[in-house]
Amino acid sequence: MPDISKDLILAELKRIAAPDGRGNIVSSGLVSDIAIHDGQVMFALNADPQHMKAMEQLQAFVQKAVSALPGVKKAIVALTAERPPTREVGPKVSATQTLKNGVPGIKHLIAVASGKGGVGKSTTAINLALALKSLGLKVAVLDADVYGPSMPKLFGLKGKPEASDATGKRMKPMQRFGVEVASIGFLVDEETPMIWRGPMVMSALTQLLREVAWSETDVMVIDMPPGTGDAQLTLAQQTPLAGAVIVSTPQDLALIDARKGINMFKKVNVPLLGIIENMSYFMCDQCGKRHEIFGHGGAKAEAERLGVPFLGEVPLDIELRERSDSGEPIVATVPDSAHTRIYQDIARKVWASLEGGSLSRPAPSIVFED
Ligand code: ADP
Repeated sequence: MPDISKDLILAELKRIAAPDGRGNIVSSGLVSDIAIHDGQVMFALNADPQHMKAMEQLQAFVQKAVSALPGVKKAIVALTAERPPTREVGPKVSATQTLKNGVPGIKHLIAVASGKGGVGKSTTAINLALALKSLGLKVAVLDADVYGPSMPKLFGLKGKPEASDATGKRMKPMQRFGVEVASIGFLVDEETPMIWRGPMVMSALTQLLREVAWSETDVMVIDMPPGTGDAQLTLAQQTPLAGAVIVSTPQDLALIDARKGINMFKKVNVPLLGIIENMSYFMCDQCGKRHEIFGHGGAKAEAERLGVPFLGEVPLDIELRERSDSGEPIVATVPDSAHTRIYQDIARKVWASLEGGSLSRPAPSIVFED
């Protein structure tokens, strides 16, 4: 297959007229920067929220045109609604109109997030999902961690998802331990790093939400990219989240980062379901004593200070790590372990918050700030 270049794509896009009839979509400034990765092309079309229907038609047309170019394996075209910064735009608009009313069949979307990497966010996300499943709920996991999609490994899943019908337009979710799974890692080659900008991450996530044939689901757990950059903010802002769970280690530094994560969700009005302190203490099987190697309890105190529920403490444990890293997550494979009980306790609190009506979320909104 020939290599595809930005110039070739731009030349094709310049042949498409702008919706206002003046010039083409490139000269009208509707096309964002174009990312190309291993034959996959991603970019965004800047949409006017007033004319979303027309923009969706244009999006489909553009996606088809670019997909048909030689050398293009897949084209992902996002619709974003960028506006010049103002203090607030009213009526508030959701940039991804297509997700505005949630995802059909999925009752609650929740994010598992962390202020920085390596704190055990993905380990927590999978075990929380499995614990929710063990309570009798229908659960799915969506791996949106663009910097290191780890759900295939944590679930012990190999290969790519199959097409769900003859048209090949939708994918079947993969499945293990009774939980449906899809990963952003299925859309891109994990080997080559690429720069993800907010609209691209959103576009890939939207695609996974809409083009995967998910079953009826009570809770979908989204493993977010760590940190609080542009990509994370876009996801927090534009995904119709019922709430977010923040994972932190007890170290102060992680807590500073966790605070940033909390503030990010607060800023975009996503309810905080709570904080989980991971690697909270070390239980010694030799002496049976609890060792608080990282200065335990920081997350609980911080949660109280911030008025965010504290969901629980997960100890540092070798078995937990070994099982995670070998695709045999502890909640599914050792259902009567102390760890499983900790995750189930957290899952019960999360479910109570989601269904108990104590959390209500306003419609997705974007507040533009200076
Ligand atoms: P993140 O998603 O925050 O980058 P991971 O979930 O990938 O973090 O965890 C990083 C590493 O720490 C993994 O090897 C994982 O198995 C290990 N780990 C996570 N939580 C624990 C824990 N409670 N006890 C022992 N190891 C853990």
